[in-house]
Amino acid sequence: MTARIIDGTLLSKQLRAEVAQRAAALAARGHRPGLAVVLVGDNAASQVYVRNKVKACEDNGLHSVYDRYPAELSEADLLARIDALNRDPQIHGILVQLPLPPHIDAHKVIEAIAPEKDVDGFHIANAGALMTGKPLFRPCTPYGVVKMFESERIPLAGANAVVIGRSNIVGKPMAMLLVEAGATVTICNSKTRDLAAHTRSADIIVAATGKRNLVTADMVKPGATVIDVGMNRDDEGKLCGDVDFAGVREVAGYITPVPGGVGPMTITMLLVNTIEAAERAAG
Ligand code: NAP
Repeated sequence: MTARIIDGTLLSKQLRAEVAQRAAALAARGHRPGLAVVLVGDNAASQVYVRNKVKACEDNGLHSVYDRYPAELSEADLLARIDALNRDPQIHGILVQLPLPPHIDAHKVIEAIAPEKDVDGFHIANAGALMTGKPLFRPCTPYGVVKMFESERIPLAGANAVVIGRSNIVGKPMAMLLVEAGATVTICNSKTRDLAAHTRSADIIVAATGKRNLVTADMVKPGATVIDVGMNRDDEGKLCGDVDFAGVREVAGYITPVPGGVGPMTITMLLVNTIEAAERAAG
């Protein structure tokens, strides 16, 4: 079997076109949706992510403000800037690019963002609501993965799902969204004994570890759906995921590529969350 590739770039195009339509409808009513992106320091990868997010806004009718600060910015100054953005009626979403320099407490910064502008979905109010009810925003990466399942009509209710990774931004919210959809979910981490024993019985595998080639063909049940969130570099410096794509695509039923899979969907769901925030603010 050769797996069907879930094309995140193509799906993103469709979803971004819907965002652009909604942005135009809001603009026609005199409301311009706005996202503020805040970058502290000069982390090379973060600069690329932020540039891509700002460009995606521009391409789809959203207004964006890009605040770039030196790594020496004090925590107090960053909190003051967030306070100003919270009160700015032109701004509907606030994204602080992580990681922050070590002298800044990232938790404190995230908690300072108004929950109704927390388009990353990382604020404790939104993370808690993901657990207990309807969050204002779902974290962009796992939300994008859910859209991929929906687009391919991959059944989640009753499915055995294994999420590899337990971070607050990917693994844990991914697991919660799968639980919400009725899957039976196992969350694995670096201490998991015999990872392959878990993945081999999974209908759905979501790998989010940052470990290249962690998931190999022998770990995958024939026909399973394999979602690769990882972003790593191979020996030639090319972008690759956590999954041995060439081997696993011969066993899996569905697979996401890297690049062109989950990455573009993450930015797309940021736009979706921002447009939702703007629509709520506009009433
Ligand atoms: P993270 O905070 O470093 O978490 C990695 C997780 O993987 C941890 O829970 C870790 O377990 C687990 N892990 C590491 N090695 C493992 C192993 N051998 N077996 C099982 N679990 C293992 O990373 P993250 O922020 O969640 O990101 C994960 C990956 O996704 C990274 O490559 C990142 O660049 C990528 N990412 C991509 C997107 C996108 O849009 N495509 C968005 C966000 C992140 P412990 O908790 O036990 O240490």
